[in-house]
Amino acid sequence: MIREVKAKTVLQKSKLPESPYCLNPYIGCTHACSYCYARFMRRFTGHQEPWGLFVDAKVNTPDVLSKQLARNTIHGPVLIGSVCDAYQPLEKRYELTRASIQQFVSKGINFSVLTKSSLVLRDIDLLRQGAGFCSVGISLSTLDDSIRRKFEPGTCSVQKRLHALEQLHKEGIRTYLFIGPILPLITNIEAIVAVASQFVDEVWGEALNLRCGNRNDVAQSYAACNLPDEWDKLTRSPKYWRSVAAELENACCRAEVPLVGFYEH
Ligand code: SF4
Repeated sequence: MIREVKAKTVLQKSKLPESPYCLNPYIGCTHACSYCYARFMRRFTGHQEPWGLFVDAKVNTPDVLSKQLARNTIHGPVLIGSVCDAYQPLEKRYELTRASIQQFVSKGINFSVLTKSSLVLRDIDLLRQGAGFCSVGISLSTLDDSIRRKFEPGTCSVQKRLHALEQLHKEGIRTYLFIGPILPLITNIEAIVAVASQFVDEVWGEALNLRCGNRNDVAQSYAACNLPDEWDKLTRSPKYWRSVAAELENACCRAEVPLVGFYEH
């Protein structure tokens, strides 16, 4: 179900490292990733549908943002899309992310967008104007589209995401590869870094987070890929995550691209 809602505030303080503010023009996300940690947002909406089957579009985002920016001085970058994908398909219709970026660019406010969608290329004109103070991250957990569809049914293909990184990078926009979540038995860190490193300025990684009511959905995705249950044990093994951290470091070192951070849960 799609609903149009009015928000009181859209720019919010965040505890995320590197991003003291965040902006989410949508609640919910039709990318419907089985591992998504943002599903906790459902309890603020009254929606009964499963995660991935509802979105509230905050249709007054541009007005509210403009009032907030007039009132407050923003220190530090804004992350666009911390609990939704700001370039999910509905953004084609509503253009709330575009309108927000327009304001950040015109005011010279540092921002970053993290997405799984090549729709970000629609806004390359604005991103080019903000090239000195914005960045775009693209997330990838696998290079295999048949696996991607099992975990992220509503997302665009791996090829389109790599193409988006390439185009943004060519335009002089700061880009980063976000390898996350890292899925045990699936994510081939070495291969992802090898194909994407030529188009990015930095790399981030994130471990699979199963502390947000997503375990059953993740288990179903693994089962659909015919993978053994060993993944579950690995997610609880500090030794396994230490080896992942080392693998990330080595892959980035070989590709000569900086690894900026690895989030563990
Ligand atoms: S794209 Fe991001 S916000 Fe959307 S469902 Fe997937 S993980 Fe969640």
